Amino acid sequence: MPFVVVITGIPGVGKSTITKLALKKTRAKFRLVNFGDIMFEEAVKMDLVKHRDEMRKLDPLTQKELQLKAAQRIVEIARTEPVLLDTHATIRTPAGYLLGFPREVIEILNPNFIVIIEAAPSEILGRRLRDLKRDRDVETEEQIARHQDLNRAAAIAYAMHSNALIKIIENHEDKGLEEAVNELVKVLDLAVSEYA
Ligand code: AMP
Ligand code: MG
Repeated sequence: MPFVVVITGIPGVGKSTITKLALKKTRAKFRLVNFGDIMFEEAVKMDLVKHRDEMRKLDPLTQKELQLKAAQRIVEIARTEPVLLDTHATIRTPAGYLLGFPREVIEILNPNFIVIIEAAPSEILGRRLRDLKRDRDVETEEQIARHQDLNRAAAIAYAMHSNALIKIIENHEDKGLEEAVNELVKVLDLAVSEYA
């Protein structure tokens, strides 16, 4: 059976950092896959975009087509090795929030876990201001808080259409990264016993 752990968190939450550290510590062998990378490959093949930050500006039906293509490719990978999928529960697009996993897409992927990494809006805002590599949207703390609320709601919907359990991991500057990493390692270690 494919084993998929979906890891979500809004930009600036520290998702990539936690993921990398957890992969070094876990006993399970995971293939790290970035959903945006796979979607981007498909979007480039179709000559739709030149940069990954243009994808969320495509019309929603086109984005859904890309999501379906990406999910199909990822589930194939997950048949041969457990996949840790770095992605987003919802995407803030110019027209409104887009579901990261519409029903057909979540049904194809059928993840075992949906992990949500969360942090305080002030911490997220601070990290975004320090990361100049990406074309990030500028958001207020209130908008960040609302986006995180929405992502919890989205995760419930995804669990309705898959066998996923939901795990919320807090990444706070004072408590340190280590606790968050250890919580993710616990989830990943489960793959060792479940993956056959
Ligand atoms: P990232 O590098 O993780 O911020 O992702 C880059 C871009 O990939 C995002 O801005 C989205 O346009 C797209 N993306 C990633 N995951 C999804 C998803 N589940 N559904 C739709 N778009 C996604
Ligand atoms: Mg990232």
